[in-house]
Amino acid sequence: MADTAVRTTTALLAVEDVAVHFGGVKAVDGISLEMHQGNIYGVLGPNGSGKSTLLGAMTRLTPLTRGRFLLDGVDYTKVPARKVHRMGISRTFQTVRLLDDRSVRDNILLGQDTLPKQTRKAAAMQVDEVMERVGVREVAQLRPDELSYGMQRRVEFARAIIGRPRLLLLDEPTAGMNTAERKEIGKLMRQLCDEGITQFIVEHDVEMMVDTCDYLFAMNVGKLIAEGDPHDVVRHPAVQEAYLGKGAASGA
Ligand code: ADP
Ligand code: MG
Repeated sequence: MADTAVRTTTALLAVEDVAVHFGGVKAVDGISLEMHQGNIYGVLGPNGSGKSTLLGAMTRLTPLTRGRFLLDGVDYTKVPARKVHRMGISRTFQTVRLLDDRSVRDNILLGQDTLPKQTRKAAAMQVDEVMERVGVREVAQLRPDELSYGMQRRVEFARAIIGRPRLLLLDEPTAGMNTAERKEIGKLMRQLCDEGITQFIVEHDVEMMVDTCDYLFAMNVGKLIAEGDPHDVVRHPAVQEAYLGKGAASGA
């Protein structure tokens, strides 16, 4: 748990007053937060609250309006996305982004393209193990467009963990999966966490988030409205008002 004792150490990731504005749209508007090694963090928030934009900013794909990011105390705000990946931050996208003219196996291997040579070699040796763990080994030679949406999501997951990132950012990784599949992915996240991969997950399934996460953040219109113990966060009046009242049950 990210308790006060842990907080006295340097954060794995520190977000300092980050804002991303698109013209008049304040997608992310002054977010500060910390994540510590060895925890699963979750982000709740209604559609349009800026969750995906924050993820894109953390990987430095998205230009900032203001603020900065520190990984283990090192400011990487001006580091290009490719190098941020090499520093150990990996992500999945909200919508599936796989190459349909390449096999599942090749798609997963592409996840370590930007990594240093030694890491790449190690990753290539791990591809079978990773496919096994994520449950896509039997479809290794198929193309992504031959798979169900849930399976495609698994392939993305495998691609994101192949280089053994220190921080894994997951944007709605279980969208399109049934309850049993979600539970499986939740279990895998916990295993990965125990192996030292800190995670930051955007998901709408409140029950899964409470079950899976050590610590929750809640966003609304670009700002953090609550953070802390998952049970406390989902009961927080501002969160109830912004999120749980509006279509949470439908998973919208
Ligand atoms: P969430 O992931 O929480 O649903 P997003 O981060 O996708 O929210 O979007 C936050 C807000 O920023 C929305 O109003 C969205 O329309 C806007 N937005 C996101 N990306 C862009 C972009 N590239 N250009 C303009 N507006 C954007
Ligand atoms: Mg989103």
